[in-house]
Amino acid sequence: MILKNISILYGNNLKFIEKTNVLITDNTFQKINSKITSAKHKVVNCDGLLLIPGLINSHTHIGDSIAKDIALDKDPNSKINPIFGIKQKILKETEPRKLIYYMRKTVKSMLKKGTTTFVDFREGGLDGVLLMQKALSNTPIRSIVLGRIEYYQSKEQIKRNTPIPQPYQDQIDTLLKNCDGIGISGSNENSDSCLKRFSKTKKIRAIHCAEKIRKITGYKGKIQWNSFPKRALEIPKLEVDNSKAKRLLKWKPKVTLDEGLKITSSYYSNRK
Ligand SMILES: [Zn+2]
Repeated sequence: MILKNISILYGNNLKFIEKTNVLITDNTFQKINSKITSAKHKVVNCDGLLLIPGLINSHTHIGDSIAKDIALDKDPNSKINPIFGIKQKILKETEPRKLIYYMRKTVKSMLKKGTTTFVDFREGGLDGVLLMQKALSNTPIRSIVLGRIEYYQSKEQIKRNTPIPQPYQDQIDTLLKNCDGIGISGSNENSDSCLKRFSKTKKIRAIHCAEKIRKITGYKGKIQWNSFPKRALEIPKLEVDNSKAKRLLKWKPKVTLDEGLKITSSYYSNRK
């Protein structure tokens, strides 16, 4: 197939190429050149269309697909608290095959809208990870699955800096053999000792982190999620990765993440 007169965002730097032709054979992009013509291929006129690389959604919970908009008007804690939230109750009471059905629907929907890779914060321990893998089998999407153990601490335990009990420590190792890394709910349910243990894994580590900013700024109020009205073309989240700068420019960060966040936060508070 030849895509004719198509514009492209090309390569790592998303270089804009205006009105060119793309040759596709065997489901693979073969050639980009404005001079491509061929009588034996089907030609599709793509005048006015833009070809872009697949999108990456770096934070999903597609395991919740069955109860996406549940309790929209409730506060986050009663909706998604990992221990007593409404979501938890629904997921527990739904048959696995139905959860799989809705996960697969979400994958289809993502692909349709151009998302070709996603990073999922998978809940439900090893069972949750295995169920998701079942749902993802034979789907043409790329996934990074971050699992978690179903162990959450009370405020008291966090104050006493309680470590993760041994049986749960063992679960972490088994879990990580079956997924790409660990996705932690947040620092409100984990003592420093727990977080340190999670940080030891060599695989990917990720955490819901608004709580960290609250700590650094000394903010005493409540975090209000999704409080801004949705706007067109909004970028609600940016992922920062400095490994390329470290590799190519031999760059080394001068301060730690915590120190950097403190400096940034005081810059904003001192602005007149
Ligand atoms: Zn999340």
